[in-house]
Formats: sequence, structure tokens, C-alpha cells
Amino acid sequence: MMYPETLSVSGEQLPYFRTDEFSSLMKESEVLLKEMIGTSSKSKVAFLTASGTGAMEAAISNVFTSKDHVLVINGGSFGKRFEEICECHSIPYDSLILEYGEVLSSEHLEKFDGMGITGVLVNIDETSTGQLYDVGIISDFCKRNGSFLIVDAISSFLADEYMMDRMGIDLTILSSQKALSLSPGISIVVMNARIFDERISNNKSPIYYLDLSNHVRNMERGQTPFTPAVGILLELNEMLKRVHDEGVNVKVSRTRELAFYFREKALEIGLKIPDYPLSNAVTPVLFDGNAQEVYHKLRDSYGITVTPSGGDLKERMLRVGHLGNLTQEDYDHLLNALKEILK
Ligand SMILES: *Cc1c(COP(=O)(O)O)cnc(C)c1O
Repeated sequence: MMYPETLSVSGEQLPYFRTDEFSSLMKESEVLLKEMIGTSSKSKVAFLTASGTGAMEAAISNVFTSKDHVLVINGGSFGKRFEEICECHSIPYDSLILEYGEVLSSEHLEKFDGMGITGVLVNIDETSTGQLYDVGIISDFCKRNGSFLIVDAISSFLADEYMMDRMGIDLTILSSQKALSLSPGISIVVMNARIFDERISNNKSPIYYLDLSNHVRNMERGQTPFTPAVGILLELNEMLKRVHDEGVNVKVSRTRELAFYFREKALEIGLKIPDYPLSNAVTPVLFDGNAQEVYHKLRDSYGITVTPSGGDLKERMLRVGHLGNLTQEDYDHLLNALKEILK
């Protein structure tokens, strides 16, 4: 659910954007974001008009080449997408494949020690299963092996604690429509000075539209190379200011409280929740082959939309989100509906 403040911004007339006013708004967003994500003011930010996948592709294609050897942590459909992007750009990769429910451990990573891994790609909350990976063990692997660490935190940033520099992350991928709870259409790449200087500014981008050096050059004057989704950048600026004022920690705690509230009550009514480490962003709920039926009943008879799953998990899992403008009463309503349906 989006916040009323966001909706009121999105209802406004859009301004012409090649102006000093828009430039200063963008510079303000850049400063706020760097502070909130815990990275140095020397880091660079690119605001892309694209869905999250566009930012994933921008990052991979601007950082790595066919001379690299990347490790993809693939524990679900978003990890798989990283593999497909590497494939598309002929970037050599190995996959650390996790079966459904398998928890990422340091033993998994040790198997790739000394193999010349130059970069690790991970979706820190693999949103398709809700598993939150332990960033510490991944970051330790990268330090031992001298690899760059690229983290897709699209559903995790603002839902779970995230401190980019302290966690040893070189590049972060964000998108407007998940934990930021804005309209879809803007995705963000945050790069530390090391990955920007050693890689991005030296490599030639194979994609004209997603050339991160060009985006960074334009951001020096608070602009984007091409017409951005102006309205979503206005929504973003409003959101960043609001979360900054209340404190990122407060925002994260509120999401955690909602997640814990739902999980506790769900277990009380006999719902099954997986026991791997979970992001505060989402709670997977397990069913015995009737997940789609429950999904449709919730929508049709109760006006509640949860997130269905795809692939092997289609009939086994629904996901309940905790992002955006939700309250404990929303979960009471959902839990009552689930109780009635499952009776
Ligand atoms: C939603 C999501 C994406 C982006 O998907 P798009 O549809 O391209 O916006 C990427 N990674 C994760 C972890 C996500 O949850």
C-alpha cells in the first residue's frame, strides 16, 4: 500500500525538469539516499528510468566483462535473473544454487574460494522465497577473494538493516516499487568509489541507455541524460525526506514489528511458515497444494491481495508483504479471512 503523501505528490502536474529547481531536488535525493544507505559521500548514484531488472543489467554490464568470473547466488527467481543477465552479456559465471528452503552458509561459499571469483551477485532478500541471506558471510568471502560485492536490495532496503559501507558492499541496486513503496519505474544504482573508479569509469558500457558513467556525469549537475520518470523522482524525494526525518531505524523497526505481529498470529491459527531466515519485507506462508485457490478466494471474497508464487512453489506458497502503508488491523483482517477460508 502506498502512503497518502506519495499519492498526493503523484496527483500533481509534472514540472519541466531541465531546471535548477529539479537539479537541486535530485542532488538533495542523492545526499539523503547516501546517508540513509550508509555510504560515503564519495559514492555515486545513478537514477535510471527502468524497472529493477534494468538496474541489475546496468550494474552487471557496466562492471564486468568477458574476462571476469562472477559468482551468482541463486536461491530463487531473482538469483536466476542474475544468471540470465550474465548469459546475455557473455559474462562467465558460476552459480551457487540453493534448493528451496536451503539456508546459505559459509560452507557453501568456501567451495568457491581460490577460484578467481572477481564479483559476487546476490539478492540479499531473495523476494521469491523471502530468505534473507547473511551478508556478513558473503562479504567475508569477497574480502578473502578480492571480489566486488553487488547487492540487489530492492525489497530489503528500508525493511531490513542495511549499511552499505559497513557491510562491505560495493554496489547496491534499488527500485521504486518495493520497500520504497512508490510507483514502479525508477531504479537506482549506488556505487562506491572503488567500483566506480576501478571498473565503471574504465569500462565501455555495452548499453547506450544504461551507461552508468554517463548517468554519474549528469548527476554532477543533478540531471539525468534522458527524460526520467519525473513524477516518480518527485515521489522519491518526498519519501526520502520523510523517512530521513523519522529515522531509517524507526522505519525498519516498524516493518519488523508488522512482520513479527503477522508471523506470531499466523502460527497461532495453524499456518505454516518456513524456518529459514526471513526478511522483514515478506512472510511466505506454506499450503498443501491449494495456494492458488486461497489466493483467489482472498481476492474475490475479501478484497485482499497477497502475492502468489510461480514455478514449483505455485500451489505451495503465498507471500504476505509488510512493505508500505500497512497496519496491524490489516493483518487482523487478513488472518480472519484466512481462518474462514481454511475452515
Ligand atoms: C522485484 C524485484 C526485482 C525487480 O523486478 P522488476 O520487475 O524488474 O522491477 C529485482 N530483484 C528483487 C529482489 C526483487 O524483489
